Amino acid sequence: MTEAVAADAAAGPSVTAPDGGGAGGWLRLAGIHKQFDDGTAALSGVELTVARGEFVSLLGPSGCGKSTLLRLIAGLDTPSAGQVIWQEPPKKGDIGFVFQEPTLLPWATAGQNVALPLRLAGHGAAARREQAGAALAAVGLEGFSRHYPHSLSGGMKMRVAIARALVTAPPVLLLDEPFAALDEMTRHELNDDLQQLAVNRGLTVIFVTHSVAEAVYLSRRIAIMSARPGRISKVIPVDFPAPRASGFRHQAEFGKLCAEISAALRAG
Ligand code: ADP
Ligand code: MG
Repeated sequence: MTEAVAADAAAGPSVTAPDGGGAGGWLRLAGIHKQFDDGTAALSGVELTVARGEFVSLLGPSGCGKSTLLRLIAGLDTPSAGQVIWQEPPKKGDIGFVFQEPTLLPWATAGQNVALPLRLAGHGAAARREQAGAALAAVGLEGFSRHYPHSLSGGMKMRVAIARALVTAPPVLLLDEPFAALDEMTRHELNDDLQQLAVNRGLTVIFVTHSVAEAVYLSRRIAIMSARPGRISKVIPVDFPAPRASGFRHQAEFGKLCAEISAALRAG
């Protein structure tokens, strides 16, 4: 089983909604601490609220607990203290997860890889084919259903991974440095496509990256994390209308925000 499928399978029941979200936001991370069994303190007092349909990036130094926090949000692991509070508790298949590596099964076609979460959920072959085909088309890979991963470029493999995360039509998409291994042009293309998907589907996106420019381009808000044990040291809004186009990268506001965020990262 791939990690992405495990995320889907685990998303529902392990994430709780004790207080209904209320004034605290659609998703609220309340006082989250995480200490691993070996004593490593990964997170300490993480506080963040996320609105429905919002695109929020987590930006922070390597090892500050970004992946750990994303796994807690997905319900793949539990906090040592504090709570992940959803206004509407996610059901199975309601949280899509995209990892840095596409984690595709090499012996399965793109279509079969995308359909895997549906297969595990017991959907029939015809429904799987139809929904996997639609998910591939949504990421610009119409007609690639029968291709095997080895015949796809790095960017196309990542598109397949995104299609697999979206095949159950989840309202929430979590991405953990998904484009870090891609060349800049491919990364920009995927940024634009992700942005479009998020807008079209009204997705709530939590996006982990260590690229300041990528975070500014995509996000409505950027949560800066301090070094381990991580907490959110600053939340910076990107008050620029979405969807954004490549010209945004050349505007003065863009450069100014990037500089401000880099300074906040350095300050920790
Ligand atoms: P990031 O994604 O920001 O680079 P991680 O969330 O992967 O950081 O890790 C945060 C810290 O927790 C690191 O010091 C890492 O080594 C540690 N860590 C992550 N997972 C485990 C684990 N399962 N057991 C022990 N320590 C872990
Ligand atoms: Mg990580």
